[in-house]
Amino acid sequence: MTRILRCAACARRIKSHQPHSGVEDLETGEEFSYHARPDCQIRCAEETATRLEAGKVYAMHHYHSSTCPDEAPGFGCAGGCFDTPMVVAN
Ligand SMILES: [Zn+2]
Ligand SMILES: [Zn+2]
Repeated sequence: MTRILRCAACARRIKSHQPHSGVEDLETGEEFSYHARPDCQIRCAEETATRLEAGKVYAMHHYHSSTCPDEAPGFGCAGGCFDTPMVVAN
């Protein structure tokens, strides 16, 4: 089954090989997807903060590009999927 992902920020389609992030509502299992692009990620951070204030519980998922060379990718991966991290980590 192919699930068509749509970015919750820009409403455009997210292809499965593109890096993107998902915010999963742990109560309903519903997942909001966002492109890894900085403007969509900013929307993601804002919308997630709003939902968290409403008392929801979420799990964040990061889906890396299919060409990403990192075996256990995360922020700052070698493939540069999320080269503008939402969270400032030092
Ligand atoms: Zn987008
Ligand atoms: Zn990556």
